[in-house]
Amino acid sequence: MTAPRLDIDLDAIASNTRTLVDRLVPAGIRVTGVSKAVRGLPAVAEAMLRGGASGLGDSRVENLERLRRGGVALPLTLIRSPMLGQVDRAIRVSDTSLNTEPVVLDALSAASLRNGSTHAVVLMVELGDLREGIAAEDVVAAAQSVERRPGLTLAGLGTNLACHSGVVPDQRKMDELSRLVDAVEAVCGATLSVVSGGNSANLDWALASDDVGRIDELRLGESILLGTEPLNRRPIDGLRSDAFTLVGEVIEAKTKPAQPWGEIAQASFGHRPPRRRSGTIRQAIVALGRQDADPDGLVPPPGITILGMSSDHLIVDVGDHDVSVGDELSFGLDYSALMRAATSPFVTTSIRR
Ligand SMILES: *Cc1c(COP(=O)(O)O)cnc(C)c1O
Repeated sequence: MTAPRLDIDLDAIASNTRTLVDRLVPAGIRVTGVSKAVRGLPAVAEAMLRGGASGLGDSRVENLERLRRGGVALPLTLIRSPMLGQVDRAIRVSDTSLNTEPVVLDALSAASLRNGSTHAVVLMVELGDLREGIAAEDVVAAAQSVERRPGLTLAGLGTNLACHSGVVPDQRKMDELSRLVDAVEAVCGATLSVVSGGNSANLDWALASDDVGRIDELRLGESILLGTEPLNRRPIDGLRSDAFTLVGEVIEAKTKPAQPWGEIAQASFGHRPPRRRSGTIRQAIVALGRQDADPDGLVPPPGITILGMSSDHLIVDVGDHDVSVGDELSFGLDYSALMRAATSPFVTTSIRR
């Protein structure tokens, strides 16, 4: 097998999806599986569908096209507002997109007519996190304007919190979204089929709330893939955290002084914290770099300590482990490290079914 590689356990992903889907069913909430952290890898998407996800979403048109090429036939949602130059591709590959801008809606409408299809629009509402969203007071007018555009249908409303500013999706925020849904329905006269409450950060609220109001869908990536919730990065009870492992090969293993010597200035990625130990250590270099993963998000095997990472070298203190050149070392990943590994052209994927 080649390294570096991302080992993926599809059963863990299917099982995490199933657990979340089953826990959300009583609240009437469906799960859209979000595949952007694995660059729309079709096998991962299929595992999400096997686990009961009702649809898939990705932030990039390219990733949605990869899912379609991989044979995924279920509804796809583009969860980032399309770039104007991509509206035709967006219309062809996705059934639904999340939107906030009139000029984009105009372009989607025109592209829809060119394609001879209709495209469903979910309008995103700004509830305080200050990423994408229409101001609450403008939502009803925006909804009416979607319905006036040929080739578009209004599927519903959505919001996204805890991404840019860490604003918590709590009962008040979700009640506000529900009230806006009622207001839009009162004016438009139709029932909205999608009320998309948010991402994995919404799980704490959704699983504890005794009144989820109108929220009927969540877009879940991190919780399904890594078994963690993003508000405090804690493991979610009953979910597996071992779906992904990054494997690298040792290219140097030597006993070296624990402390560098000479006059110390910046290292290649800024100042390195001083090493705490004196004497010598067993040090290994793994052929993994910042081009492949985020060093802050790597979890080394027990007894091994990460000392630093440059573009192409991961330096570890292997402690008492007997590590030789050619050996492989396996690392756990957080969301940031996973995303970097899955998008690095140097990292291959190896899938366990
Ligand atoms: C990435 C993203 C999600 C999924 O977020 P997770 O925290 O990985 O569950 C949901 N919605 C939007 C708009 C996103 O960009």
